[in-house]
Amino acid sequence: MYTDLKNKVAIITGGSKGIGTAVSERFGKEQMKVVVNYHSDEEGAQEAVELIEKAGGKAIAVQADVSTEEGNQALIDAAIKEFGNLDLWVNNAGMENRYETHKLPLEEWEKVTKVNLTGVFLGTKAALNYFLEQDKKGNIINMSSVHEQIPWPTFAHYAASKGGVKLFSESVAMEYAARNIRVNCIGPGAINTPINAKKFEDPEQLKTTTSMVPMQRIGDPSEVAAAAAWLASEESSYVTGITLFVDGGMTLYPAFQGGKG
Ligand code: NAD
Repeated sequence: MYTDLKNKVAIITGGSKGIGTAVSERFGKEQMKVVVNYHSDEEGAQEAVELIEKAGGKAIAVQADVSTEEGNQALIDAAIKEFGNLDLWVNNAGMENRYETHKLPLEEWEKVTKVNLTGVFLGTKAALNYFLEQDKKGNIINMSSVHEQIPWPTFAHYAASKGGVKLFSESVAMEYAARNIRVNCIGPGAINTPINAKKFEDPEQLKTTTSMVPMQRIGDPSEVAAAAAWLASEESSYVTGITLFVDGGMTLYPAFQGGKG
């Protein structure tokens, strides 16, 4: 637990399931005040709110589409109205779908990049404006992926969006570092969430994915949430512009395991 997080106000996008819910629950344990954003799964968002409150925090659920400027504005308005402040914005919402690139419809490219990359830009912009207007220090965490670094055939649009998140975050981190606004990414590897549910139900696919992880297991969303809590806290006060990979070693070129190559 990080004592400085108590009563800090956070927005988390895409909080109705998966990593977003795990981060929400962890923020609850840190006794934070949390705006849990959801797109369509109101029930999931309410469950996240209950987890936060049961753990000792405060929370509200707010519907918004993070790929729009109005959606992000609605989130900050809700944080100010309900909690009177904002300390941390976590751009977590994301989506993926598989397409061979020569068959990838333009609408799918636009859908994925709009949520994964434009959404991160819009959330970051809204947070920056608030921190600058209030002349206060601020913290932004962007949920990237190991695929900001590892190419992913048939998910080229997803990889492009996460590669964009990395350089966007590094640029913004540098731009606002002197104003005491930190911007970092988390790069999850293979984590057990609804985005992967179908894949991991298939024993063959599960085996294939596990074999690509030096630690030989799939990650738990709470392990990503632990990284978010550290980046949110003052324990990481001198850290900006990084991607903290939470991937069991997936980014370590596991094909070379055992001295192969
Ligand atoms: P998930 O599918 O369980 O959750 C994604 C969340 O984003 C959902 O709540 C969904 O409703 C929300 N969302 C999608 N579009 C939205 C929109 N327009 N507005 C608001 N919310 C929207 O996925 P997850 O595994 O929990 O992923 C969370 C983040 O972590 C994503 O950015 C994903 O790319 C990233 N990630 C996940 C993994 C993994 O293995 N699970 C690995 C690397 C990166």
